[in-house]
Amino acid sequence: MKLVLLGPPGAGKGTQANVLCKEYNVAHFSTGDLLREAIKNNSSVGMEAKVYMDKGELVPDEIVAKMITEKLKNSDTDSGFMLDGFPRTKKQAEILDQALAELNILLDMVLYFETNEETILKRLTGRRVCRGCGYNFHVTNIPPKQEGVCDFCGKELFQRDDDKETTIKRRIDVYNNQTKELIDYYQEKELLKKVSGDLDVDLLFADLKNIFAEAGLK
Ligand code: AMP
Repeated sequence: MKLVLLGPPGAGKGTQANVLCKEYNVAHFSTGDLLREAIKNNSSVGMEAKVYMDKGELVPDEIVAKMITEKLKNSDTDSGFMLDGFPRTKKQAEILDQALAELNILLDMVLYFETNEETILKRLTGRRVCRGCGYNFHVTNIPPKQEGVCDFCGKELFQRDDDKETTIKRRIDVYNNQTKELIDYYQEKELLKKVSGDLDVDLLFADLKNIFAEAGLK
């Protein structure tokens, strides 16, 4: 399966990508994760991106587009992938179309995670991320077995700097102003499939498995 996961921050894209990639053994390409990795490595791209990320703004299109197109070119994408958090602007969607065309790859589906602001705020303020493997937990919705420790790799869980309430509000505005138009973009291409980002992780996971089975995606 070759998918794009679209939706506001906190709609559950990363969480579903975590479980789906394990289940279907496909690659998970998250621009947010790649940027956080670049920051951790103190690279010049990371330092430039951090200024935007800390404010809840989008990192310039050229930076993220280069990151993701390189990933697509240099990875084995035959068994499939999920693009999580990319594209986020129409310009990025066009760059992606071009990169996919050059690689002879067709997208199967764009999953649009629909949700509301109340859910987003609750999810993001409670989100805790593993420093080691990047798995997403939540203090009440997806609590780790031991507080502050990852169930899978045993590393420490932390709260992302941009998961503080004022930055979250800015990220929602940015989504509404710059990313939401991609819903129409992919609807016109007849790739869009709406799912409920309000559902609990397990219920949405079950729904998605049915959707993939019906579409013949593996
Ligand atoms: P995420 O982990 O997807 O919530 O992304 C965290 C932050 O990384 C966003 O608020 C942006 O600042 C930046 N970012 C991630 N993906 C993109 C993208 N496709 N375009 C621009 N900025 C991005």
